[in-house]
Amino acid sequence: MTDVPFRKLSSLSLVIPVFNEEESLPALRAELERLLPSFAGIAVEVILVDDGSTDATPAFCAAWAAEAPWVKVAAFSRNFGHQAAISAGLRYAGGEAVVILDADLQDPPEVIPEMIGRYEAGFDVVYGRRRTRSGESRFKLASAWLFYRLMRRCVHKDLPVDAGDFRLMSRRCVDVLNAMPETHRFMRGLAAWAGFRQTAVLYDRRERRHGESKYPLGKMLFLAWDAISSFSALPVRAVNFIGLCFLLFGFAVCVYTLVQHAAGHTVPGWSSLVGLITLIGGLTICSVGIIGEYVGKIYEEVKRRPLYVVEKTLNLDERGVNAPREPHAE
Ligand code: UDP
Ligand code: MG
Repeated sequence: MTDVPFRKLSSLSLVIPVFNEEESLPALRAELERLLPSFAGIAVEVILVDDGSTDATPAFCAAWAAEAPWVKVAAFSRNFGHQAAISAGLRYAGGEAVVILDADLQDPPEVIPEMIGRYEAGFDVVYGRRRTRSGESRFKLASAWLFYRLMRRCVHKDLPVDAGDFRLMSRRCVDVLNAMPETHRFMRGLAAWAGFRQTAVLYDRRERRHGESKYPLGKMLFLAWDAISSFSALPVRAVNFIGLCFLLFGFAVCVYTLVQHAAGHTVPGWSSLVGLITLIGGLTICSVGIIGEYVGKIYEEVKRRPLYVVEKTLNLDERGVNAPREPHAE
């Protein structure tokens, strides 16, 4: 990175999506307040995006924001999901660089100074790559390992492996993400898509100390499907290819049947017939289903609904839902 001059970071936004995190928030506050003095010379704002929490989270956020003007809150009118919450945070963030952080402290804030160091050395995206991941089930570890590697091989070759949403992004990268209008947002994929200079810092992902994961298996699968389908039409192509193979096979079976018929060797053939009908029927339904998934996505995109609805903001300028914002605005 010798060609990039050193740049000093002047302001940083920490975007934190929160959904029913009443147990985690006191520890988060304590940890951030402990860490902030070490960010000498950098104006820091914390943007808590309350994703429709139904516990004491809104009250905690409001109390914290009342005491600290650098703590800003945007509260959704209901739960719109983690990726929508991150998108909202990025739109409200005014910093020269933005760090996305989970509220449960699984992503350690102590890594942020190292990320800032990389930014100042000229990188636009500094993502946290998990060296270890404690407290997760074997299934989650194995499925995540496989997911990132398959994604890189088949769908998105630049997607960093073993990296979640914990990352620092420069203002120009955040502006690119903010300009993307799509509804189904796999933010870590979009950040990789944006390009610029990207690098990783290694960290040990901690166990969730308070509360439970807000990502049960169903949500995880939806996120994985969003990741695949928003970057690739590979599944449709794959079923198309399998369909073609079946077509060729069916053609060969027809020729064979006609030859057998001409030779007078007609046999009952019940099993092969039933087998083929079931197989091809299943394949047809599955293919239509996969195409239907894409049509559904197109349907949702063309409606152009906002990604989220903000009910209330604290210490933030009232901006319209999804209103564009000036880069670097205070
Ligand atoms: N989260 C959110 N909306 C949701 C689910 C999760 O804002 O619908 C937040 C959650 O409060 C946390 C972050 O997203 O700050 C990551 O969620 P979680 O820790 O449950 O995911 P995991 O680390 O288990 O993958
Ligand atoms: Mg977590």
